Amino acid sequence: VLLDRSIAQYPKGKQKGCAGCNRKIKDRYLLKALDKYWHEDCLKCACCDCRLGEVGSTLYTKANLILCRRDYLRLFGTTGNCAACSKLIPAFEMVMRARDNVYHLDCFACQLCNQRFCVGDKFFLKNNMILCQMDYEEGQLNGSFETQVQ
Ligand SMILES: [Zn+2]
Ligand SMILES: [Zn+2]
Ligand SMILES: [Zn+2]
Ligand SMILES: [Zn+2]
Repeated sequence: VLLDRSIAQYPKGKQKGCAGCNRKIKDRYLLKALDKYWHEDCLKCACCDCRLGEVGSTLYTKANLILCRRDYLRLFGTTGNCAACSKLIPAFEMVMRARDNVYHLDCFACQLCNQRFCVGDKFFLKNNMILCQMDYEEGQLNGSFETQVQ
């Protein structure tokens, strides 16, 4: 969700307090976001505490949290589609990567024998399939890969 943020003169006559600390805003500048007014120091990312007035021109909200772009993407963005099950992978989830493909940890297994890989295990990508060393070598031997269309 993209929300507007603007530095504006505090409107005369409207004595609204800061939505963050509830105190009156006497600063020359204030931030207006979510239809509320904030001190520049009070509009902070709920995750990393960075001042959103300085980060950029956009902020993000979700589930009553105000977040900077980086944390929003980390928490609610997506990494892409799993190359094995083609479901979306949320950005905060651990993924396996092979070349341009991303995989759920659970989906990263040999697509012929379902063997899971551990750190340091060799795996092979052939025709966009993940293969264990055994299945890869077997495929090389009987030439089945060469007949497939890339
Ligand atoms: Zn404040
Ligand atoms: Zn943040
Ligand atoms: Zn998957
Ligand atoms: Zn295998």
